[in-house]
Amino acid sequence: IDKNPGEPEFHQAVREVLDSLRPVIDENEAMYRRDAILERLIEPERVVSFRVPWVDDKGQVQVNRGYRVQFSSAIGPYKGGLRFHPSVNQGIVKFLGFEQIFKNALTDLPIGGGKGGADFDPKGKSDREVMAFCQSFMNELYRHIGANTDVPAGDIGVGGREVGYLYGQYKRLTGRYEGVLTGKGLTFGGSLVRKESTGYGLVYITEEMLRNHEMTMSGKTVIVSGSGNVAIYATERAQHFGAKVVALSDSSGFVYDPKGIRIDIVKDIKEKRRGRIKEYVDEVPSAKYTEGRGIWNIPCDIALPCATQNELTLSDAKALKENGCFAICEGANMPVTQEATDYVMESEMFFLPGKASNAGGVTTSALEMTQNSERLYWSFEKTDSRLKEIMVNIYAQISGAAKDYGYEDNYVIGANIAAFKKIADAMHSQGIV
Ligand code: NDP
Repeated sequence: IDKNPGEPEFHQAVREVLDSLRPVIDENEAMYRRDAILERLIEPERVVSFRVPWVDDKGQVQVNRGYRVQFSSAIGPYKGGLRFHPSVNQGIVKFLGFEQIFKNALTDLPIGGGKGGADFDPKGKSDREVMAFCQSFMNELYRHIGANTDVPAGDIGVGGREVGYLYGQYKRLTGRYEGVLTGKGLTFGGSLVRKESTGYGLVYITEEMLRNHEMTMSGKTVIVSGSGNVAIYATERAQHFGAKVVALSDSSGFVYDPKGIRIDIVKDIKEKRRGRIKEYVDEVPSAKYTEGRGIWNIPCDIALPCATQNELTLSDAKALKENGCFAICEGANMPVTQEATDYVMESEMFFLPGKASNAGGVTTSALEMTQNSERLYWSFEKTDSRLKEIMVNIYAQISGAAKDYGYEDNYVIGANIAAFKKIADAMHSQGIV
């Protein structure tokens, strides 16, 4: 903590992982200590922070701060998204980069962990301003990334539009047409299913967990928080599986539609108009919009938090439990606070941690890298079935590891142990680097 001051989210992520690794460390403590595996694992290989100056529509120069954390290349090139949000700072990017190492290991694909972003807020900016920012951001980032070294993607505030601008500038600076970013447009190297993949993947692994306990999402009432990329496609897939999604939110408030959210309307508001979730009630007057927090007070069977870190607190978890919710599966990164996670585990609710349950996005990103290397495009069906296969395999790994170490159904411990064993093995084999 002294070495990484002012980075509470990073401390939280590291503490959760280290707390679960005791049973593995006990197996070969001398080696782990001698090799300083844990000490090396929590120290990023590289942190880059840089100035991003750009000119707004009034002719005023604005200055933001950009980051790229190249956390671990133990099992492949650094891979992880870019987040553009005013709350971005070094601690947030390090927490996300650290989580990413484990998530990527669980996919069984050759990708290491990284993350980046800037304290830039794309909300309310014109397309020209977003382009100016993205170009300036890439003017520095391009020297640190490459198709075989570090391959960023999107995250909060970075979708298809931003990836397009970033890619255009990379190509202009380097003269190279290569798979250096994922989440690209479908006309220039993007993969089908990438847009849908985090939300779809979340639903695939949730269904797999339920299936292993003789249940299904069909007929269940579900709450999804957020109304961005992950939330929209989690809702779409959950509905496809026969669940009824009754609420969505954004940082201003939430909508409750007891008849079931109309995802076509949400897509129109969010993807076409770049509007706010409260506009939903203009189209569906029987639905209700409430300003502020409170989405987790709505009764449901399954909660899928898909907005941001620490959005679901202890009191939210208690409200969910009291109202009959039996499963919380993270679509966002670390959306459930540590206290709430502890409560959920003690109260014997099912809990899938984001590093396992939201790995669908990076999985399809890695499949996009494969397609770019092959110079081929895969069909929607082929990509979606690979995604499903990998999410089912992640469930098998995390439940298997939990069982092997005597913590059946504890997927936090299972995910951390299953991922750590692969990363530690690669680190040990590659010597002290
Ligand atoms: P988007 O920017 O598309 O959407 C984020 C959504 O969350 C928006 O609706 C936003 O509302 C809402 N939100 C943000 N902060 C809060 C808050 N404090 N309270 C309530 N709602 C809030 O991002 P994504 O959907 O891509 O990402 C969501 C989460 O999923 C993040 O944690 C991200 O790291 C994680 N993730 C994303 C992946 C991907 O492929 N996109 C992959 C793996 C993880 P508003 O518009 O008001 O800010």
